[in-house]
Amino acid sequence: MFGLAILAIATCVGPTSGTEKLPEIALIIDDIGYHYENGRSVIELQRPFAYSILPFSPHAEKLAHLANALEKDVMVHLPMEADHANHLLGPGALRFGMSRTEIENSLIDSLAAVPHAVGVNNHMGSKLTREPEPMRWLMHAIHERGELFFVDSKTTSHSVALSSALRADIASTARDAFLDNVQTRPHIEEQLRKLVAEAKRKGHALGIAHPHPTTIGVLRDWEPSVTGVRLVAIGDYIEAHQHYGDEGPAATALRLAVSECGNESSDANPTENPNAQR
Ligand SMILES: [Zn+2]
Repeated sequence: MFGLAILAIATCVGPTSGTEKLPEIALIIDDIGYHYENGRSVIELQRPFAYSILPFSPHAEKLAHLANALEKDVMVHLPMEADHANHLLGPGALRFGMSRTEIENSLIDSLAAVPHAVGVNNHMGSKLTREPEPMRWLMHAIHERGELFFVDSKTTSHSVALSSALRADIASTARDAFLDNVQTRPHIEEQLRKLVAEAKRKGHALGIAHPHPTTIGVLRDWEPSVTGVRLVAIGDYIEAHQHYGDEGPAATALRLAVSECGNESSDANPTENPNAQR
């Protein structure tokens, strides 16, 4: 009996034992690659943001190398067909109706166009991310490329991208809030406050912003530690807070261990942000 009690306590003694565990926030800056100066400014902010770069954009390679040289995480911002405004997709877009081979080849080309990429998230995609079959093909192709993670940008509340990624056994999560769909300082600051509140509610939260001058100004002034959260790199965030499918006993055991230790609410359903639809 005594031995069992020791075991139960030991289960909850992890790397955070003895230190205060602050809620964690990660931020991805999307749509990098078309404006060199804006891209450079946001990459040079002294924060562990991730930079998601549009494949085949004119400054993709140069900005990817710059981010990597500054030890920032680089992602591929993979264009996917939307319900509207598909003229904004840019080259390398995955579209409904493409064959499995076309999707796989397009992914390979996009990954090659963005050096140093450690993960993928969708650019637009309100149409394609609702479609189970192309999402299944895509996630299997991402899984075959090695240690890449996936972030569902959640451009539609009906996205199946995250569940497809989980079924393909990819480390993955979904964004909680877009910060700058309205590019005014008060709006962006309010979205940051909501993101912090969400992180405090569930222990972690993921935001997405864009390289607009107003956003860059707000992020330059933002002091996450003052608000009682810790800003972490996306790789660390995914490792600590990825969603878990029901595919493997190890994943299930880890999820149970975390929730039993009381520092994590169930994250089976990613938070919906009704203001975040594109
Ligand atoms: Zn985008």
